[in-house]
Amino acid sequence: MFDKVLVANRGEIAVRVMAAAEELGCETVAVYSDADRNGGHVDYADEAYNVGPAPASESYLDQEAIIDVAQRTGADAIHPGYGFLAENADFARRVEETPDITWVGPPSDAMETLGEKTKARTVMQEAGVPVVPGTTEPVDDADEVRALGEEFGYPIAIKAEGGGGGRGMKIVRSEAEVDDALESAKREGEAYFGNDSVYVEKYLEAPKHIEVQVLADQHGNVRHLGERDCSLQRRHQKVIEEAPSPALDADLRDEIGEAARQGVREAGYTNAGTVEFLVEDGEFYFMEVNTRIQVEHTVSEEVTGIDIVRWQLRVAAGEDLAFAQDDVEIDGHAVEYRINAENPAADFAPTPGQLTTYRPPTSIGVRLDHAVAQGDEIGGDYDSMIGKLIVSGEDREHCLERSKRALEHFDVEGVHTTIPFHRLMLDDDAFVAGDHTTKYLDRELDDDA
Ligand code: ADP
Repeated sequence: MFDKVLVANRGEIAVRVMAAAEELGCETVAVYSDADRNGGHVDYADEAYNVGPAPASESYLDQEAIIDVAQRTGADAIHPGYGFLAENADFARRVEETPDITWVGPPSDAMETLGEKTKARTVMQEAGVPVVPGTTEPVDDADEVRALGEEFGYPIAIKAEGGGGGRGMKIVRSEAEVDDALESAKREGEAYFGNDSVYVEKYLEAPKHIEVQVLADQHGNVRHLGERDCSLQRRHQKVIEEAPSPALDADLRDEIGEAARQGVREAGYTNAGTVEFLVEDGEFYFMEVNTRIQVEHTVSEEVTGIDIVRWQLRVAAGEDLAFAQDDVEIDGHAVEYRINAENPAADFAPTPGQLTTYRPPTSIGVRLDHAVAQGDEIGGDYDSMIGKLIVSGEDREHCLERSKRALEHFDVEGVHTTIPFHRLMLDDDAFVAGDHTTKYLDRELDDDA
């Protein structure tokens, strides 16, 4: 095992990773920006070092500064968390090439392949995994897009090669919309991901977003930890996540899990990852792989009892995955609620400010991943997350009932939060029945749809 782990991140995920590292007997090193001098992750770490000013591009994304801290402190591993440098294959490669420091993540080559969506689609197809109908090569020309529209039937989606979170994705409902959509998808791809390459997919009208958590060691063992259902989305961003999915039966669950294992094996993947699928009418289609620990990994941990972050560290250190696929059992139900400093009544606009009251619920079945305390400022420099409330129960119904009370007893003052929104969802017939699709919320809120 490592002696000392540097976490190249902030907030709740930095604390989550340090907790796992401590459990394995490692010391912990935090890095922080000027805005985070009093951050919860700084408090938590054994040692903490300033890596620059508030803008992420000058601190949490400063590869050189972070590697420099690792070397100076004698850290022998770097864990990137999620966001920031987590899916940056160049950074992963730099860490791999730095003597005496291990990258806690997949090999940079696999990150590179899977980070480009058309390459990822090709790998999956080769592994025999069904993919969303579409191209496995970038598409450049409007006539070509129109020909694909004819072939698949409208609507289609033009998607940025490097895209994510719905950014760089344009839905095209007819031939007449192709020119504008192509141009704006390219523009967004370039602006957000520095890559104006795009490709085309059939756009599914009412899918479920189902993703499979995988773990792979360096000795050829690949396991899946079942699925998460992230169908409750607003403008293609996840709002509530749960495990297991209320929409899968045992056969489909096994099939999709095996497909995910096959796919990552083909890609030469190790460490933790998520294979995302769209599911419609009992069919599943590969969408993309996220080569990092995800925000919503918690619900898989709650229903399997497997500590995913600890396994990330263990397999990075060369250990074998010490459990068989048959040992993975899904027990009960878990739901994660993202508690953000946002105003649901004002289009979810971020509301930075001081947490004048912060009293989270504590009781059986309640887990809170956060790095804040009463009196802290939720700044405007990074995302607006205050923390994640994860509620577990014997089954989905029990879990949702427990969630009502947990959210009712979550007192936050000083900023608006997403808590009232979550409470509304717990009274929403479609969500409670579990038959909401990814389009449900946008239609309800009459957003973009
Ligand atoms: P990420 O999963 O990283 O956020 P995407 O931008 O590819 O990446 O997808 C975000 C969301 O957009 C998905 O969860 C899904 O709701 C929707 N989506 C993406 N591709 C399609 C498609 N071909 N058909 C229907 N919905 C899609």
